[in-house]
Amino acid sequence: MNIIVLAKIIKQGGIDFDMKGAQIIKTNEPLVINEVEKPKPEGNQVLVKVVASGVCHSDLHLWEGGYAGPKGVFMKVEDRGVKFPLIPGHEISGTIEEVGKGVNNFNLGDSVLVYPWLGDRSCPACLSGEQNLCDNPRTLGIYQNGGYAQYVLIPDSKFLIKLDRIDFDSASSLACSGLTAYNAVKKAKPVPGLEDNHNIVIVGAGGLGLMAVQVAEAIYKSRITVIDVNDQKLAEAKKLGADNIINTKEKQDVVKEVKDLTNGSGTDVVLDFVNNNITSVNSFNMLRKRGKLIMVGLFGGSMELNLPMIPLRGYTLTGAYTGTFQDLTELVNLASDGKVRTVLDRRFSLNQVNEALHDLKNGKIIGRAIINPN
Ligand SMILES: [Zn+2]
Ligand SMILES: [Zn+2]
Repeated sequence: MNIIVLAKIIKQGGIDFDMKGAQIIKTNEPLVINEVEKPKPEGNQVLVKVVASGVCHSDLHLWEGGYAGPKGVFMKVEDRGVKFPLIPGHEISGTIEEVGKGVNNFNLGDSVLVYPWLGDRSCPACLSGEQNLCDNPRTLGIYQNGGYAQYVLIPDSKFLIKLDRIDFDSASSLACSGLTAYNAVKKAKPVPGLEDNHNIVIVGAGGLGLMAVQVAEAIYKSRITVIDVNDQKLAEAKKLGADNIINTKEKQDVVKEVKDLTNGSGTDVVLDFVNNNITSVNSFNMLRKRGKLIMVGLFGGSMELNLPMIPLRGYTLTGAYTGTFQDLTELVNLASDGKVRTVLDRRFSLNQVNEALHDLKNGKIIGRAIINPN
């Protein structure tokens, strides 16, 4: 051990603290930038030097400690296994800094995107390849330390995707909002033979909704209708490929609007990226027979269901939450081919992390805020 290292260890009281990370210590209190131990990769582990870490709405939920559930009940993240202090950040891109002895598929300095939705690798979800729905999730930035730090430890190199044709900032949010939109759109797949006359309604033209428009435009021939309350976002949706847009501030009977656009029958699929007590009811009521409602948004609340409608009209109600490693690989390919792009807003340093979260909370971020910790 050389003198400098020894001096540092003595200075820090016996532990070698050597990277900066932003920690949630207690919910609703400002994140604290602390010096923490820089992990040392072993076996198949990889240490990634973080270039970009996206700031996501679920980071806000973590910070606030939970989600709004039915009848005002607050669903606490700590009841679902989240432990503080925690370094959040699950939309991570960066370069390979150090690898364990078992890693031979990456070189130091390689540019990578991290697949953060890790599982226990033993439950039925993990065994069927859907570790994003693991019974005992180990997600980076939620259940273990994530990317609001200079470095992040990845448990296995197989959770990394090489980046060669897209930049770090654009790539990072593909790992969450992009992936969620991609997986949701995959669930909207038309029945073979009926691709030409297929309607998809997208509720909410925020980051996820706009990504969904691009993915649907890239992989299907479906007619895409986008619903929102903001003309600027709707105009963007149109630019990205939406065939119809509906502003519910002007046209309040949105179910009728959708029926008018579909010869009275309703839409094949609704992707509800808001999914609150108002949109969910409308989304349900605008389905055609055999229609599918895919609930994605986490705005919270509850809905009352007209139960006989579900069997009589053969509806499918399902949810979409992030996606698989395979989905992320496919999405990175689409982005690398220029078929989808993420909308970036502002860049923040690690020290500005609280400002970034406040701005997101107060609706001041259009697209994605990025933290560049190094
Ligand atoms: Zn699992
Ligand atoms: Zn996210």
